[in-house]
Amino acid sequence: MRVLAFGAHPDDVEFQIGGTLAKYAKLGHEVYIAVATNGCIGSYRHTKEEIAKIRRQEAQNAADLIGAKLIWMDFEDEFLFDTKETRLKFIDAIRMTRPDIIFAHEPYNDYNQDHDITGYLAFTARILSVVKLIETEHEVCSKVAPLFYYTTLGIINFIPEYYVDITDTFEMKKKMFLCHDSQQGDWCRDAFGVSYVEMMEAEAILLATQAGTPGCRYAEGFKLCKGWPTIAGAYKLLP
Ligand SMILES: [Zn+2]
Repeated sequence: MRVLAFGAHPDDVEFQIGGTLAKYAKLGHEVYIAVATNGCIGSYRHTKEEIAKIRRQEAQNAADLIGAKLIWMDFEDEFLFDTKETRLKFIDAIRMTRPDIIFAHEPYNDYNQDHDITGYLAFTARILSVVKLIETEHEVCSKVAPLFYYTTLGIINFIPEYYVDITDTFEMKKKMFLCHDSQQGDWCRDAFGVSYVEMMEAEAILLATQAGTPGCRYAEGFKLCKGWPTIAGAYKLLP
């Protein structure tokens, strides 16, 4: 299978579905991580150019840990909009990777507008990827892939429908997340007074509690996009 995960910022995908992606990779599936913005405002110490460069390398390091391919879309952090340019780039990311399953933020339900727009662009692009007269660099897709939304930050306003047990890949998820070293002290503690890695761990434990599967210590949660076509049985594609 080919698995495509869109994230608004470098580290979003690792935070919310790193364990699921590590699981797909372990099972031999091809994993693609598409990062919409360059993370250029995520620092109290570096310039925009410096931090964007650092964060690209951190995202690459995280992807390399599970042999995933990184798609760096390079839009400006916190200024992502639904425009012709962004739509075409999202469509082309789908056409380039030809996914069997797509993951993204849930549109207009998260704490950050880039998350919302990324989710909306993924929602739009999955259908438009099969429309022949919309031309992009890569060839039109032959099928619409199911789209799953992953949890919001803090799992606020989000009741998962499906859970993936990531107990066996949680350490890898943590390693991937910690590749984003610039965000641990320099950003999250300074700007918001929180430890992102503690938040990530707490959310995975809470989701495992919700899942209630014996032996499951860590989990990630998902909802299926209800836009047509929802693709019956798509949940079976979850690992
Ligand atoms: Zn984010």
